[in-house]
Amino acid sequence: MSTSLLHPNLVTNPPRLEPVPAVALWSGQSLHIPPVCLDPDGIYHEDPENRDASGLLWPRISGTATGTPRYADVNPFQQRKAMAELRCQIGMGPATRSSLGVLWLLPVPEGTEDDPARDWDAGENVIEPPTCLFHSRDATGRCPELRKGHEAVWACVTELVGVAGVYYPPDRPQPVERTLALGDPDLAFMVATALVRYLGAITPVDLSDPQLFADAVPCNLSPGDTPTVHCPARPSPSLPSASLLARRRLPADPAVAQTAGMLTQDISRLQSVKSRRTSASAEVVEDAYHLVYASTGPWLGLARTRYTASDSPAGRARWDAWITPLTPSPYGIRGTWPQVCLLSDLGREMLRALHETLVPCLSVGSVGQEIQRRIESGTLAPSARIRRRALAKSLQVPASYVNLALVDLAATGLVEIYAGGHFTVASASHRVSRLGRRQRIAIGATEARAA
Ligand SMILES: [Zn+2]
Repeated sequence: MSTSLLHPNLVTNPPRLEPVPAVALWSGQSLHIPPVCLDPDGIYHEDPENRDASGLLWPRISGTATGTPRYADVNPFQQRKAMAELRCQIGMGPATRSSLGVLWLLPVPEGTEDDPARDWDAGENVIEPPTCLFHSRDATGRCPELRKGHEAVWACVTELVGVAGVYYPPDRPQPVERTLALGDPDLAFMVATALVRYLGAITPVDLSDPQLFADAVPCNLSPGDTPTVHCPARPSPSLPSASLLARRRLPADPAVAQTAGMLTQDISRLQSVKSRRTSASAEVVEDAYHLVYASTGPWLGLARTRYTASDSPAGRARWDAWITPLTPSPYGIRGTWPQVCLLSDLGREMLRALHETLVPCLSVGSVGQEIQRRIESGTLAPSARIRRRALAKSLQVPASYVNLALVDLAATGLVEIYAGGHFTVASASHRVSRLGRRQRIAIGATEARAA
């Protein structure tokens, strides 16, 4: 395996290990979610709020890391740090990377409905942060749960895709545990407890291979401490097998995985042009424009292909709304900080949409055709509110495809859009009166992949 894992200092400097996994909570700490205030736009806590740079709301922790470790309970802030920065969940140093990707160590699932076996070929969503090689081996020796069985893998694609947490449905009284995709507008109604990464392009690692560990050093190596370590905590909120993120699973095609990885890198680069600052120097603004164009420019060709292949007027309008502003002006860069932040948002939306098209599924036109069929057969009754998420799940397409298809159908009079953003099937009388004007939406290839 990679020789970059060798460390000549190991022999002379005894490794320092944290006595407890860094992501575990301590008995001296308590985690709590203050009462939430509900707004039409989302939930908030009375000050002080724990809101991160991306706008996610997090719980509060009081107390200090003292007393006894609570291995089964995860400190959401440590989980977030380890997951976002790809740090070892035990020592919080850098997770081990090799030419095959980042190292992950996970207990073997029980194979039940709540804890189903993993399908590494399809890729997996996980809330457990990665590990370093040294702590992986150590944990498999010490942790009873990992001794029962573990899976260790190199993951070449490691995309942040979602957030697990407590969701407060605006129309229901009881909060529920949920996992939502990044970019989901419902995140405004969630208190986050963990970040979710998609792991793809997987290579299994044999942790019993002594060769692999010959020179592995702890991620938090520093001289002078006694090496002691406990087992890694297993994060408690497990992901349901039929997670909303399941549709984002990529095929195990290395070329697709590579494209996905490159898109992910550019999406995270764009993340840096998203701050709450209200003003910036001309130089900072110009640098930000360069970064946005450099991160999105290489993808404009693919986006134009998707635009051309789209069989949906709303889908084409959506691609155009990204392609036009992201095409650099021949007259040079002119804009303000808020404008470049907006452009960066558009760039990230476009790259995420391109990422979605890597997963083969029905085209937007075909989704529209299916919804139309359900309306005409009465499966979707006149005046009924259209449950977009359930529809997306049943058709195994991204929620955005259902929205675009409904916008197309609204133009034909088959469905109606309400100001609140929801859709209903047009009432029977309304449909009859508009039938003369209604055109069947254009349907292209039924299995087209592009939006
Ligand atoms: Zn480590």
